Amino acid sequence: MFFDVHAHLDDEAFDEDRKEVIKDIQNAGICVINAGSDIASSEFSLDLADRYDFIYACIGIHPHEAKDVPVDYLDILRDLSKHKKVVAIGEIGLDYYYDLSDKEDQKKVFMEQLGLAKELDLPVVIHDREAHQDTLDIVKASGVKKGLMHCYSGSYEMALEFIKLGFYFSFGGIITFKNAKKPKEVVAKLPLESILCETDCPYLTPEPYRGRRNDPTKIPIIAQKIAELRDMDFHGLEMALEQNTRNLFFK
Ligand SMILES: [Zn+2]
Repeated sequence: MFFDVHAHLDDEAFDEDRKEVIKDIQNAGICVINAGSDIASSEFSLDLADRYDFIYACIGIHPHEAKDVPVDYLDILRDLSKHKKVVAIGEIGLDYYYDLSDKEDQKKVFMEQLGLAKELDLPVVIHDREAHQDTLDIVKASGVKKGLMHCYSGSYEMALEFIKLGFYFSFGGIITFKNAKKPKEVVAKLPLESILCETDCPYLTPEPYRGRRNDPTKIPIIAQKIAELRDMDFHGLEMALEQNTRNLFFK
């Protein structure tokens, strides 16, 4: 069974036909972990998780939103975390590429949410774009012991540092792109037990659908690519990915 460990089914790209898309996901037998990026999308994720037994939720504030968090956001997240289908705090992290929030605001909100995850004993789902070293330093200092680097774009060497901290790595459509040399090398080389797969839908649609809207039914395409890059049997990879997902989120 496949899991899409990072999706945004709450995105407005699905407003017209969300029910139909979810029906297709169900028919494909794929489970989804939907990621929050602010309070509203965290609540939306929980609402989806309430309605569909194969959807789970992460709750958290994305670095882009760090500048606009309500003063009591930690209390709100703590309260939402009581829901039984919350599997992680995320997506949280740092984004120095778009830099939509001031770096200091990003770091503050990231550190506070890592603290919350530690307090609640939940794993974290981390977004790191061009902020690898700061992300590593902050996670190390936080004492958080379990998490996912979503859509991992760092080096293999950096990944080994994250593995020491109890982290996993998920890969999506990018590994099907021709020019994605580094992520392809990294996914081929990492220990099998540290790998998960995701769509990050509606973004990052794998080839040959690149440019169109992404959704969790594209997960087997991504898994096929991982199997090919690692020279593995498709079904063997599927079982390993499922086990890794269970080890990280459902234990
Ligand atoms: Zn995301």
